[in-house]
Amino acid sequence: MPADLLATALWIALAWVLLGLLAWSFGRAAGRRRPRQPLQPQGISALIRDPVSGYYPTQIGVYCDGCGFTVLGDYLVHESQDRSARLGVARAHLAATEGWTCDASGDWCPSCHPTPSIGVVGGDR
Ligand SMILES: [Zn+2]
Repeated sequence: MPADLLATALWIALAWVLLGLLAWSFGRAAGRRRPRQPLQPQGISALIRDPVSGYYPTQIGVYCDGCGFTVLGDYLVHESQDRSARLGVARAHLAATEGWTCDASGDWCPSCHPTPSIGVVGGDR
């Protein structure tokens, strides 16, 4: 039955092509998930010196809504970012590296991190 053999061979070939596409797709997805590397000082200098990069350094302060403690830091921001986006850069940095909690409830230093009992009636017992 050569027709059956040919059909089987075509199905096997099609399966190999599909498996190859699947593996290629997973490889591409894995490549996109690689963590971003922090910029090296030379890269930051190049971005600042490049007149068309749009990046510039600025000092941003984040205040703790609990105790008023302030952290000032220098951040690299882009000219397309509005005030809120630039503050978001500093908030994200403090949350990722300094233990701050920065969310819709406010900005909280590690000492004032709101606990789940805040706002619960009788939660202070
Ligand atoms: Zn605080």
